[in-house]
Amino acid sequence: MDEKIKKLQELIDNAKRIVFFGGAGVSTESGIKDFRSKDGLYNLHSKYGHPYEEMLSHHYFFEHTKTFYQFYYEFMISKSAKPNDAHLYLAKLEKAKELTVITQNIDGLHQMAGSKKVLELHGSVHRNTCLKCGKHYSLDELMELGEVPYCSKCGGLVKPDVVLYEEGLDMGVVNEAIYQISKADLMIIAGTSLSVYPASGLVYYFKGKNLVVINKDPLNIQSDDYLEINEPVGKVFSQLHI
Ligand code: ZN
Repeated sequence: MDEKIKKLQELIDNAKRIVFFGGAGVSTESGIKDFRSKDGLYNLHSKYGHPYEEMLSHHYFFEHTKTFYQFYYEFMISKSAKPNDAHLYLAKLEKAKELTVITQNIDGLHQMAGSKKVLELHGSVHRNTCLKCGKHYSLDELMELGEVPYCSKCGGLVKPDVVLYEEGLDMGVVNEAIYQISKADLMIIAGTSLSVYPASGLVYYFKGKNLVVINKDPLNIQSDDYLEINEPVGKVFSQLHI
């Protein structure tokens, strides 16, 4: 076993309270299309002609709802995606340790793997709400409502519970994330470049001893004392045991 993986195993074994903070790189091995990748962006531009920040913005949702949903179903939804070794390991670890998963992903794969304590900073594609009467819809139910989904009960527009550009994060979720990070003695950051808010800011609430970064590309963290593993996230977790 690789020395770094061995060290990570040791840190997990000895930890009392763990926070796992994950980004897009946690889901790529599950077949979630990374629309921010070169190919994804190329396809997006040639088809829609707008940057993704525009297509996924609050104003675009209301002004071009039909195109928003075309883009959303094509680039944001992967119905065939299954949890990978990282999701499955964390679900098992939660039964043995005090563990909170904080994710920037909206795909619900941690819950699909069996995790219960999951804080979704950007919401979830699996929750959708009528803006008029508050009726909730699953993803399947949403897709059955048509190209532009109108509520079957009241006719109001249904919107995914996903944080769009120009929208604020749920402060209840953010505060709980800060609380869990500040209490943890081991924090594992995985599959995120840490360059964007809120990931960049949240890491500074960590006061514990052991920080681990798992990311394909090296990161620049303002701390000289952390374990960095530059490998795919699922591959790393496939080598660990509980
Ligand atoms: Zn309604």
